[in-house]
Amino acid sequence: MDLFQKCYSFTRADEVKGAGFYPYFRAIEANEGPVVKIENREIIMAGSNNYHGLTTHPKVKEAAINAIRKYGTGCSGSRYLTGTLDLHIQLEEKLADFLEKEAVLLFSTGYQTAQGIIPTLVSKGEFIISDKDNHASIVAANMMAKGGFAEFKRYKHNDMSDLERVLSALPVDAPKLIASDGVFSTTGEIVELPKLVELAGKYNARLLIDDAHATGVIGHCGRGTASEFGLTDKVDMIMGTFSKTFASLGGFVAGERAVINYLKHHAPALIFSASPTPASVAAADAALEIVKEHPETVTKLVSNAQYMRDGFVNMGFRVLDGRTAIVPVILGDDMLVFRFWRKLFDAGVFVNAFISPGVPPNMAMLRTSYMATHEKQHLDRILEIFNDIGKEMEIIS
Ligand code: PMP
Repeated sequence: MDLFQKCYSFTRADEVKGAGFYPYFRAIEANEGPVVKIENREIIMAGSNNYHGLTTHPKVKEAAINAIRKYGTGCSGSRYLTGTLDLHIQLEEKLADFLEKEAVLLFSTGYQTAQGIIPTLVSKGEFIISDKDNHASIVAANMMAKGGFAEFKRYKHNDMSDLERVLSALPVDAPKLIASDGVFSTTGEIVELPKLVELAGKYNARLLIDDAHATGVIGHCGRGTASEFGLTDKVDMIMGTFSKTFASLGGFVAGERAVINYLKHHAPALIFSASPTPASVAAADAALEIVKEHPETVTKLVSNAQYMRDGFVNMGFRVLDGRTAIVPVILGDDMLVFRFWRKLFDAGVFVNAFISPGVPPNMAMLRTSYMATHEKQHLDRILEIFNDIGKEMEIIS
């Protein structure tokens, strides 16, 4: 059998495209933040992770342009060798200060950050223990660690008694790392951090929290999950990304100086990959400054999301409860999601269609997410369109 046979017989995407329901890889032609242009039409964006709306902020754009003028377009090397700029070091120091950790290490993407941390730290005879619904970047990193003969265990999603069941069965003295999303990327749920911290302490495990969807959203002035619970000193490593609140591209891990120093000298994902570009780092740096200067933006973001959650619930939609910027509207059935998505798109709203196996069976959803720069008129228009389509498709009455 030819290796490519699976590619030749993969027809599902073409079938959905043929039926006119394909929601993926839609090219955005212009991006103003809450409103984008697709197929030459203005569409309200309700699916972006640009939480503070900073990708179009004049100061962020200017910082990126100035960095290109000063340093050029790329670093052409890894941090380890020729790819460290003063910009990288400055941003690491600022982030360490913001997150109240001793040190920070930048990576070129958030995805790569997990690859840089987990397989580097957890090796043969050591344990990685992971929430079942963690982000794909952690799952892939766990597989790499497992390939390096680390022991890999999973616990039921955000279920602390199941975590305790797993931990209590492991050798007491074996080194362990527990990894969890701070805010789960599909549902927007927040991890049960106080109990997680208690169990990590009880069973002598280190803790890694992925704050991709938490930074800028929860915690004191947007400092994320550990800060939200007043447990910054109990979370050993906080990882994050520049692709959401920080309006750029790149990732980071914050933690103890000795741990960051070890990762710096051992993580293949850092050592064998080019460093984030000058423009990416300068944009993230400028975005961080704006986040620090405007803590009220966090409040606006969360209240926008709450406005939408209440709106959907009042209309009769099934919405997962929460207090982050992610508001999933559960429809249950994949085809229903595609049909609803298409009607939304035609009416001028873009959301994310999440279907199985990306979500559990019967949890197919329109994952909506909000920005602080959405104005009431945008939000009301989204609600009005959802209401019309929901009634037309007899999902709500
Ligand atoms: N962690 C989580 C929870 C995420 O949602 C994402 C991106 N969707 C990442 C990590 C990866 O970040 P990046 O896009 O910077 O690679």
